[in-house]
Amino acid sequence: MKNDKAVVVFSGGQDSTTCLFWAMEQFADVTAVTFDYNQRHITEIECAKKITKELGITHHILDMSLLNQLAPNALTRQNIEVTDGEEGELPSTFVPGRNLLFMSFAGVLASQIGAKHIVTGVCETDFSGYPDCRDVFIKSLNVTLNLSMDQQFVIHTPLMWLNKAETWKMADELGAFDFVREKTLTCYNGIVADGCGECPACKLRKNGLDEYLNVRKER
Ligand SMILES: [Zn+2]
Repeated sequence: MKNDKAVVVFSGGQDSTTCLFWAMEQFADVTAVTFDYNQRHITEIECAKKITKELGITHHILDMSLLNQLAPNALTRQNIEVTDGEEGELPSTFVPGRNLLFMSFAGVLASQIGAKHIVTGVCETDFSGYPDCRDVFIKSLNVTLNLSMDQQFVIHTPLMWLNKAETWKMADELGAFDFVREKTLTCYNGIVADGCGECPACKLRKNGLDEYLNVRKER
């Protein structure tokens, strides 16, 4: 795979930044793609730009504002509260069709630049209740993309079966622990690094970090 090209779906968050480092180790040529769908905080796009610039990675930002037109939700509208889903309900941060669209556009870009590999940080383990983060969905989409473009893409999901602590471990093993901790944005309130500490995304990130730091201490 060392000679191959890869496209990384990149948001500037902990997970996709870890995937970016993973891809840089796996592939000769890595391109990042970020989707702009009027996220609550433009910081997310700025953060993604800064990271790719610092790492010297080619970065495409694609306008996906049509998603917000179709499906207003808590990530794009200030007046919708970020909440965890009740039992059997999807959380308010779920954007129907988001990964289907993002991965399809990543496929189009991969086809245009001659990349065989597509990398995404979706994860089933910390299952947020998003159906389009499940392994079965990604596998199904891989087949569909290949059929639709007559390509042999391989979609990689290095975080699929990891919990948040294991994702921190992976970043550490890639030599990217401090980078990921200090430069990525996970917080729903748009605060880089350790974030606001209050929102569901910050809590998830912090729990995983504390768990991993405990394990690291014991070594
Ligand atoms: Zn937060």
